[in-house]
Amino acid sequence: MLSQRPALTAHRPRKRFGQNFLIDQGVIHAIVEAIRPQADDLLVEIGPGLGALTDLLLQRLSHLLVVEIDRDLILRLKNRYPPERLTVYEGDALSFDFGALAKTRKLKVAGNLPYNISTPLLFHLATFAEHLVDLHFMLQKEVVDRMVALPDDAAYGRLSVMLQSRFYLEALFDVPPEAFAPHPKVYSAVVRLIPKPLDKLTIVDPECFARLVAAAFGQRRKMLRNTLKSWFSENELTDLGVSPAARAETLAPEDFARLANAFILKERAQANMV
Ligand code: SAM
Repeated sequence: MLSQRPALTAHRPRKRFGQNFLIDQGVIHAIVEAIRPQADDLLVEIGPGLGALTDLLLQRLSHLLVVEIDRDLILRLKNRYPPERLTVYEGDALSFDFGALAKTRKLKVAGNLPYNISTPLLFHLATFAEHLVDLHFMLQKEVVDRMVALPDDAAYGRLSVMLQSRFYLEALFDVPPEAFAPHPKVYSAVVRLIPKPLDKLTIVDPECFARLVAAAFGQRRKMLRNTLKSWFSENELTDLGVSPAARAETLAPEDFARLANAFILKERAQANMV
């Protein structure tokens, strides 16, 4: 049996840790349904907080792993759940080695994420994609809109390209501010990410790809002939099937992959000539 949950008022939510705790049971159940935990899944919850999702996840799982940064919450979690049910990793999810947990099988990752670090956290998690089964996150709706946006959408940008090149993404449902205590100022949404299989990945050098995407979107309204000037001549862009007058927001993730791969080939060819 789980011990008695401490009253919500007993913990003072900390803004710096993005603490907006879920209180709407309907939403909590809907998130856990979306995660579809199976008894012996290896699942990591990021930011368990006061345990809103943790409780329900532990009704389905034999064991759960959590990463939490707030020492007060860590103490409560340890008092509340025995170690044979819950492993608590104390620290910052932004520097957590998720790959180290996936030694014997792949991980599922889930959480109602602290919104102030959601973008760097998504980039950090993307580096472990090969170790992951799937990810389910509550995020600001505006961030989810950017993640799933398609070329020419106003919300389409670096985040969309970087994540869509590595994952299949699905926005699942929106969540109003009243579902949390305290209420955040914005609407939230739940999103699912499933890593693409290795044979669907076409990027030769992920670091080069990331730099090229950042350069292209660095000045969003500028044409690629300007933003990618130090990467390709106008003729090279045209030969690669990309109009030098196009803007980054019109290119699909596959176009960026083609450009980044061509740049690597060009660099290798130049290196062989000297
Ligand atoms: N899961 C709980 C819920 O839904 O009610 C809490 C969600 S709250 C939005 C975010 C949680 O992430 C808090 O428990 C907070 O302390 C934790 N957190 C914030 N920054 C973190 C970080 N860098 N690494 C790990 N946990 C973090």
